[in-house]
Order: sequence, then C-alpha cells, then structure tokens
Amino acid sequence: MLDIERLLSNRVQDIETSGIRRVWALAQACEDPINLSIGQPDFLVPDSIKQAAIDAILSDKNGYTQTAGDPCLLDSIHTRLHTQYGWKFDEGSHHAAMVTSGTAGALTLACLTILGPGDEIIIPDPYFVIYPTLARIAEAKAVLCDTYPDFRMTAERIAPCITDKTKAVLLNSPANPTGVVLTAQEVADIALLCQDKGILLITDEIYDEFVFPPTQHASPAATNADVLVIRGYGKTYGCTGWRMGYAAGPKALIDGMLKIKQQTFVCAPSVLQHALVGAYDIDLSPLIERFARRRDMVIDFLGDVTELVIPEGAFYAFPKIPTGHNMCGMEFISKAIENDVLVIQGDVFSKHDTHFRLSFAVPEDKLELGLTTLKTLLS
Ligand code: PMP
Repeated sequence: MLDIERLLSNRVQDIETSGIRRVWALAQACEDPINLSIGQPDFLVPDSIKQAAIDAILSDKNGYTQTAGDPCLLDSIHTRLHTQYGWKFDEGSHHAAMVTSGTAGALTLACLTILGPGDEIIIPDPYFVIYPTLARIAEAKAVLCDTYPDFRMTAERIAPCITDKTKAVLLNSPANPTGVVLTAQEVADIALLCQDKGILLITDEIYDEFVFPPTQHASPAATNADVLVIRGYGKTYGCTGWRMGYAAGPKALIDGMLKIKQQTFVCAPSVLQHALVGAYDIDLSPLIERFARRRDMVIDFLGDVTELVIPEGAFYAFPKIPTGHNMCGMEFISKAIENDVLVIQGDVFSKHDTHFRLSFAVPEDKLELGLTTLKTLLS
C-alpha cells in the first residue's frame, strides 16, 4: 500500500485540528446533547432566496460565471458599498469587488495573494480558527495580537506587533469567538495606523449584520479606501453550506486574487450567485432582535458567575472559567459534556486556555437548558 503519510506536505501536517477533535471525541458519549458549539444560525433561508435559487436552476443559469462573479450579484455588492462608504466601481475606479466561495474563500485568496515565506500577518488572539492556518498555508507567520482581557484589538495593541516583515493586519469585528464589536473610533485608529505603516488592513466582516442595537457596526472602509473588505452570505441568510461571500478593495489587489481564483476555483456557484441578488432587500431586524434577546439570556445566566465580556454582535460569548475552579479549558469542557452540554475550550481559538466559547444560535428552550447547566458548573 502507498505510504500516503510520507507524501503529505508539511503544509497539511502542520494544520492543527486536534482541539475540536477532542471535543467531538468526548461528545460521542452524549445521546442528545445541547449543542452550544455550532457557529451556524438556526433559522431557515428566507423563501425568496430559496425560490430564486430554484428559478436560477430552472432557467438554466447553470454554467460558469465570470471569475469575479455574475454581473447582477456584483451590482448589488457595488451598490451596497457605494451606499455605505461611497466606494465606486466604474471602469477606472480605485475599487473592485469579487464574489468568493464563502468568506473563508475570500480570506484564503487574500492570504495567498499577499503573503509568502518570511512575511507576517497580525491577527487577534483570540482568533477565528482558520486565521493561523491560512498564514501557514501561505508559508507566512501569524503574529498574535493579545487582546485579553477585554478582547478589543486596538491600534495601541497592534502597533508593537508591527515589524518590517508585516504585510497585513486582519481585523474581525463583530468577532468570533468573543462577540466583541469595535467602535468607529477604534476602527478608524487601526485604519490610520495601517495607512501610516503601509500595511494592508483586511477586515473580516462576516457578522456585520449581527450587531445588537444600540451598538452599530463600524468598518475601516469608512475612513480608509485601501482596506480589503470581506463579507459573507452564509451566516446572514442561513445558507452557510452554499459557500458564498465576497471581497472588495483596491482593484490591484482584487486583480491578484482573481488570478488565483481563475486557476483554482474558477467561480463561485453560479446558481447561488443568482439566488442572492435580492438578499440585501430582506429586513433582518426581527432576527437581530431575537439574537439580542438570546444574548441577554447569556448575560442573565452567566453574568454574575463568570467574567463575561458582553457580546455586542455575532452569536458567541467567550466566558472565563473562574480561577477558583482551577480548571483548564479541556477539563471544564469535559465536565460540560458529562452534563450533555457542548461548548468549545478556549485554546482552540487562542494561545490561552482560560475561557470557553458558547454559541447562542440555538432555540431559546435549548439555550435556557444549556445555560442552566453551565451556570451550575461555573458557580
Ligand atoms: N470568518 C469568521 C470570523 C467566521 O466565524 C467564519 C465562519 N465561522 C468564517 C470567516 C468563514 O465563513 P464562511 O462559512 O462564509 O466561509
């Protein structure tokens, strides 16, 4: 038999998946766990979007699209970014956009386009799990910007991480796994710092619509024309499996990303591009109110038994395991799983192992049961 292990590249061997695997291994023992580990919304795709997907198939829109995306979907992205930040996408404009295979697809293309051996990218700690991996795939180094204990990735915290090898800063607000949303001032300060240092600012805004009033989402695109904005449709419209997202930024950068896209994934799924053309006409406010109420439940249950940074967006909370419990993340997670609640230990998202992530993208009755158990375990 072929020794496949011997053939695997260092790139693959380096990828760390053991943290989440440990949780799933333990979870096998649970019959019907309350799953607060999942980073995907529990609501259904709006009917109008489903219907548009069906219509696209039936009207034979099943072939390749342009690499940058179908013109109708691109148009809606252009209009969105023009309305929000005044960006223009006409012939000869500074900006361009492209549709990608998920937000992860956009992040992958961005890293492969910008980074190479010896380069550095600054990412927050805690981070979304794929960030360090993407840097490694590009043979670059992810430099962790420690944001404990309030999880705010500020210009002040980023500045000391910058070296002459830094190519980019990766920002994520609202953040996974903490739910932290940066203020307009914080974001503008980071945009200015990157501009001053000649560094690309990549802003992962996959949760831009999941912000709980009165907090508002702030993008560095409002003050810096050279940022790379990355957004997704999956979380916002309940279609994570469709793998749809987009990137927009300086045209020269998007052109670089398009070169890689053209010779790898070619285009995002054509039918689903057609399906999402009307997405921005959908009113999400009832949904956001519901998520805000769930966030409030997390605060009500856990606010006085843990150190909890209040999530102002996304659908995650990242509570601290009280020091008095003398437990690392994995020990706490094992206890939670013994009690049929799945959450994820902090070291999957961080070099620290002092917190855990829970997702409140679950129905209220389940959330209440899960939070009741967690409160008991943390008290
Ligand atoms: N960025 C962040 C911060 C995320 O939380 C996720 C998904 N969990 C992604 C990117 C990837 O999203 P997509 O499914 O659109 O690729």
